[in-house]
Amino acid sequence: MIRGLIRIIFYALLVYIAYLVYLFFQGINKASKASRLSKRPSGMMVKDEICNTYLPKEDTLKEVIEGKEYYFCSKECRDKFLEQKNKES
Ligand SMILES: [Zn+2]
Repeated sequence: MIRGLIRIIFYALLVYIAYLVYLFFQGINKASKASRLSKRPSGMMVKDEICNTYLPKEDTLKEVIEGKEYYFCSKECRDKFLEQKNKES
């Protein structure tokens, strides 16, 4: 029984290490992306479907619905949009 426990701990540790490695590589990815973007701000404007305004992408809330990305100026707009989507389907 104790052997089984040790095995579980061992696998948990393996998963944990894999997770750390994953985070490490993600960190590198982010850093290289940031340095590429640092030359100029993204300046990308996205549309809020609810209040029909354009906002800088980094100031919005992102929601992925059925594989499509939607952006909202606030939680209220997002909730309204989700409500509409639920009514449609
Ligand atoms: Zn809005």
